[in-house]
Amino acid sequence: MKKRSADWKIFTLWVIGLALAAVCLGWILRIESERQLGQSAEQSALRWAQFADRTVPDLEAALAGRGVTPAAREQLARLLHTDDVFHFKLFDAAGKPVLSSDELPDARSSPTHAAEDDFGKGSANQADALILGPVLAGQPQVELKRAARSGGPPVYSQAYVPVKRDGRVLGVVEVYVDQTERARLNEGAFLRVAGAVAALLLVLLAVASYQFWVRLRRQRQADTRVRYMAHHDALSGALNRASFNEVLQQAAWRRAEGGPAFSLLCIDLDYFKEVNDSFGHAAGDQVLRVATQRLKASVREGDQVARLGGDEFAIVLLGVATVEAVTPLAQRIVEALALSYEVSDQRVICGGSVGVAIHGLDATDPDELLGKADLALYRAKANGRGSFSFYDVQMDQQMQARRELTRDLREAIAADQLSLHYQPLYGRDAHTLTGYEALLRWHHPTRGDIAPVEFIALAEETGVIDAIGLWVLRRACVEAAGWPAPLTVAVNLSALQFASDNLVELVTRALSDAGLAPERLELEITESLLMNNTDQVMGVLRALSGMGVSIAMDDFGTGYSSLAYLWRFPFDKVKIDRAFTHNLGHDAKVGVIVHSIISLAHSLNIRVSAEGVETPSQMAALQDRGCDEFQGFLLGRPAPLEGLTHVGRVGAPASTIRRSPPRESVLAPSPMELATTLPESMN
Ligand code: C2E
Ligand code: MG
Ligand code: MG
Repeated sequence: MKKRSADWKIFTLWVIGLALAAVCLGWILRIESERQLGQSAEQSALRWAQFADRTVPDLEAALAGRGVTPAAREQLARLLHTDDVFHFKLFDAAGKPVLSSDELPDARSSPTHAAEDDFGKGSANQADALILGPVLAGQPQVELKRAARSGGPPVYSQAYVPVKRDGRVLGVVEVYVDQTERARLNEGAFLRVAGAVAALLLVLLAVASYQFWVRLRRQRQADTRVRYMAHHDALSGALNRASFNEVLQQAAWRRAEGGPAFSLLCIDLDYFKEVNDSFGHAAGDQVLRVATQRLKASVREGDQVARLGGDEFAIVLLGVATVEAVTPLAQRIVEALALSYEVSDQRVICGGSVGVAIHGLDATDPDELLGKADLALYRAKANGRGSFSFYDVQMDQQMQARRELTRDLREAIAADQLSLHYQPLYGRDAHTLTGYEALLRWHHPTRGDIAPVEFIALAEETGVIDAIGLWVLRRACVEAAGWPAPLTVAVNLSALQFASDNLVELVTRALSDAGLAPERLELEITESLLMNNTDQVMGVLRALSGMGVSIAMDDFGTGYSSLAYLWRFPFDKVKIDRAFTHNLGHDAKVGVIVHSIISLAHSLNIRVSAEGVETPSQMAALQDRGCDEFQGFLLGRPAPLEGLTHVGRVGAPASTIRRSPPRESVLAPSPMELATTLPESMN
């Protein structure tokens, strides 16, 4: 704004400057033209006087007071109308008039005769007397005069020219020369030059105005752009967070003053991180742009779509404030986001979830409303993504409980509430104990034992997983170091633990601090880690493997493209998810799949372990298909360190370490036998 008024000032100064220049130039031209006119008047008068001096006979005698001879009169009469002279007077050396042109015979008929009053009759008038002094001293005097009162030419020059002989002034010729024609020509030239100058100045003014206009337009465009950038997200073109907050605040104010009711939608793209990680940031940006277009297309003209950051969006729906009215809209948005995206010549599915809070019904304060829409979004995500959810009061209670649990979880390590249970793993013969999987347990002071499925996800969401994961790793290594070699310990790693750049160092330190050989540690990872197939993750896995630590893929078969990951990294083991084991007896096709997985893994030199073995028939079916390792309630439930059956048999070779009860009961255990022989478990 400041800049613009400065520009206007500059422009005004330009105009004033040009106008002044025009006036000055006009003035200078005028003076110059007058000067030229005066000069030419002087020259013509001098010329005439000199000519008269030369050609009038007996002029010297006439000026000396010896009378004007008829020949002189005749010549003077002839000269009267030459060179535009229309009147003259002769003065002697004392300034006394000798002759006036009016006294010449044909002067009577001259058109200037009527003006004799103005030009003097034959006697020296007062003006003549004043001026004659310097002229008699030898100095000619010329004066340009305009507009005689009556008769006579409108412009004429009055010149006093001394007549000299040998440097002596004999007298003075006063001559009047008509300058009207010269003045007219001069005037014409002046007008032409003035016109040209004015045209030039006008061109300059036009150029300056054009430049000013262009500058002003550019500035206006820049202002509009800056204003747009201040309110919009540069990537997607949606409103940014700051202006969305304003929009929300205004909607609430207007509502308070009887304006339209409204609802607030919080939207989050379901697999944006995966798209970003797998296809790169350019692809992620493209998804964000298309998602924004889809959101805008799903709502009405006046509804405001904003990108709050990352893959979070929000929409204020004006005039829509009931569950019935919002439902089809929310549904439409979920469907629009579920469509695939064209990214780097590939079709990508990203999906989105929606949380809805209704103003007036759920909250009136904008911040509170946003918080509630967020809670509803959280619920939609927890419900399996790709869906929408309305806020309800229970969500607050659940959120409160979640907050408390998170707080307790943060304190759990220090409060010594965490412990590890170990579930045995058996070799191909189902008798040989090969090691244990460490499974985390949390004994909450008021809520009792909490299963990991309940709190691991929470730990991951709240970032506590790093501390807890490290605690598990170190504790498992220390406890396993007390087991007879070559019993192994399997530790579950969360994908998030790979985000820290010192995982290899932490594992190395845990092993060396515990004095456990790397070959006795197995790290279980899940497919979710490999979905973010970054060089960093691969580098860490290779480094761990290079140390001698085994890497197992846990819960194999639960992801949506499991097989694809097998060749990405040389796993030592895959653990078939217990869902397969469970369905072995129910569905013949599962048997075929399990068989295929085992043969595929074997051909890639990967061992196969089966999880969740609960019945002898499952066991037999898995053994038939060549499974290398077994884990499940049939063989042993997770138990605390003190309950492990091998304890006390330290030093026994692996092949001789057998679980009790003896082989027969393993292969055909009765529930009673299991209950009495397997360690106590919490599960
Ligand atoms: P997981 O790694 O697949 O662990 C095996 C889970 O299956 C354990 O559940 C175990 O108790 C259960 N299980 C074993 N045999 C049977 C069976 O025959 N039948 C049935 N129904 N279940 C069986 P748990 O201990 O509740 O652990 C659940 C999951 O929590 C684990 O699945 C693992 O993904 C995670 N988890 C446990 N401890 C940790 C940990 O220290 N760190 C991380 N990141 N995750 C852990
Ligand atoms: Mg596991
Ligand atoms: Mg598992």
